[in-house]
Amino acid sequence: MFKKVLIANRGEIALRIHRACKELGIATVAVHSTADENAMHVRLADESVCIGPPAPKDSYLNIPAIISAAEITGADAIHPGYGFLSENARFAEIVAAHNITFIGPDADHIRIMGDKIAAKNAVGNAGIPLVPGSDGAVNSFEEAREAAEKIGYPVLVKAASGGGGRGMKVAQTAADLEEALSTAKSEAKSSFGDDAVYLEKYLQQPRHIEIQVIADKHGNVVQLGERDCSLQRRHQKVLEEALSPALTAQERVKIGDTVRKAIESLGYLGAGTVEFLYENGEFYFIEMNTRLQVEHPITEQVTGTDLVREQIMVAAGHKLSFSQDDIKFTGHSIECRVNAENPRTFRPSPGEIKQFHSAGGPGVRFDSAVYTGYRIPPYYDSMIGKLIVYGDDRAHCIARLRRALAEMVFVGIETTVPLFIDLIENPDFQKGDYHIHWLEEWLEKTD
Ligand code: ADP
Repeated sequence: MFKKVLIANRGEIALRIHRACKELGIATVAVHSTADENAMHVRLADESVCIGPPAPKDSYLNIPAIISAAEITGADAIHPGYGFLSENARFAEIVAAHNITFIGPDADHIRIMGDKIAAKNAVGNAGIPLVPGSDGAVNSFEEAREAAEKIGYPVLVKAASGGGGRGMKVAQTAADLEEALSTAKSEAKSSFGDDAVYLEKYLQQPRHIEIQVIADKHGNVVQLGERDCSLQRRHQKVLEEALSPALTAQERVKIGDTVRKAIESLGYLGAGTVEFLYENGEFYFIEMNTRLQVEHPITEQVTGTDLVREQIMVAAGHKLSFSQDDIKFTGHSIECRVNAENPRTFRPSPGEIKQFHSAGGPGVRFDSAVYTGYRIPPYYDSMIGKLIVYGDDRAHCIARLRRALAEMVFVGIETTVPLFIDLIENPDFQKGDYHIHWLEEWLEKTD
């Protein structure tokens, strides 16, 4: 087992990784920017190293500084968390070249899945159903027009290197295509340094359903069921639930099995998520994330697993601690992403948390790194915590979530807690009847 793990991240996920390490008896190294000197992960880690100024490119994305910190402290593995360098194949290679274990998949898998065109090819060949789309990248307007005609309008122009919902434009009709193409291309170029785009059928009212997988170096692959992440704003997830209220038990077994076999045939290692859109009983692959996801805890709640612990164990060469037959789903879990934002305008609200009290009690978990007196820096993502609730069934889970949200106290900053308090009283939400555009439509109606 590793003796010391460097955590190349910040915020709640840095703390989540620290906790898993401590429970395994592993020492931790926190790295931090000058803006995060007083962060909780820095306080709790056994050692900490300042790796640069606040801007992510100078600190949390600064590969030489992170490698130096690992070498100086003698860390034998690096956990990248999510975001930042977690899906950077080059980083995974550099870490390995320094004889340090990268806690994640092989660089080759990260690279393939990071290019959505290559990813579609790879998983399509492994038997996963795809969204109908262009045959690879479209290199000219002519090619795009021909592909769109074949697919049928509306179509979505998507960046091959896209992420975070950027570089995506809808063309409702042929008349919109030229503009959608050039806007998506220039957004892709400026955000990702790569203007390659492809076309997909634009699904009208799908749900976003993703399957969690984890694999070890001994050929064992386990799928841990799905998460429903359809409640989104600007293509970003806001509230997630496991399992999905929309799938039948048969559909669950079928898609889970298809994914497990595909991941096995790819020879994948570590945790990963295969994302689909789901409409009229059909699944359509959109992308695979080769890292831990923000919403992984709801899967942990309904399967009784610890995915970060397993990630560390399999990276160290151990076998998964469970087999597919051990995975039984019990109860229901919902996660609310608590952001330091105005709950209606979503304007960021950094600053000092003058007072903080977390919800607690049965079935309630608040994964966060904030504390009373903590000053939220303005340089990073506005998510400050994840309220994760578990219940015997969906109705019980919602009842617990209602009382947990009412217990949360934040003084000094605005948060999105009031948004969730309103949202969970909506009859469509309570029936589980929603799709990927539902939340934005509801926000407009209730403005
Ligand atoms: P990113 O990597 O930028 O997050 P994804 O491919 O994962 O991009 O898509 C993000 C979200 O965009 C999906 O959850 C869904 O809401 C929407 N989306 C993506 N592809 C399609 C499509 N073909 N039709 C309709 N909506 C889509």
